[in-house]
Amino acid sequence: MGKTALIVDDSPTMRQMVAFTLTNAGFTVIEAQDGKDAVNKVAGGGKMDVVVTDLNMPEMDGIALIKELRKLSAFRFTPILMLTTESAAEKKQAGKEAGATGWIVKPFNPEILLKTIARVLPA
Ligand SMILES: [Mg+2]
Repeated sequence: MGKTALIVDDSPTMRQMVAFTLTNAGFTVIEAQDGKDAVNKVAGGGKMDVVVTDLNMPEMDGIALIKELRKLSAFRFTPILMLTTESAAEKKQAGKEAGATGWIVKPFNPEILLKTIARVLPA
């Protein structure tokens, strides 16, 4: 069965680029515009194989989103990657503590994203 990815970013352009990359790699893609939207979209029990989220977003940021997702049994072990312009060590630490699996710094590079996903996805 195909894998599903949840993409969360407040930039439509960024969502489009990530969605294009993952769709081409065979994923079914669900998009959300911020953390709150993402939580709403998985509230029905939607299970994702991987989550790629931005950090800085209105309503609910990436770190708050990760904390919310980690409370759900369906997301306890789901790889969650942060894709952000933010590279400060304390932000990365906060992400790690919230339960982020990995951290990728923008500008967006499709190859790096796919390699990182391949590394964190169970075969
Ligand atoms: Mg943003």
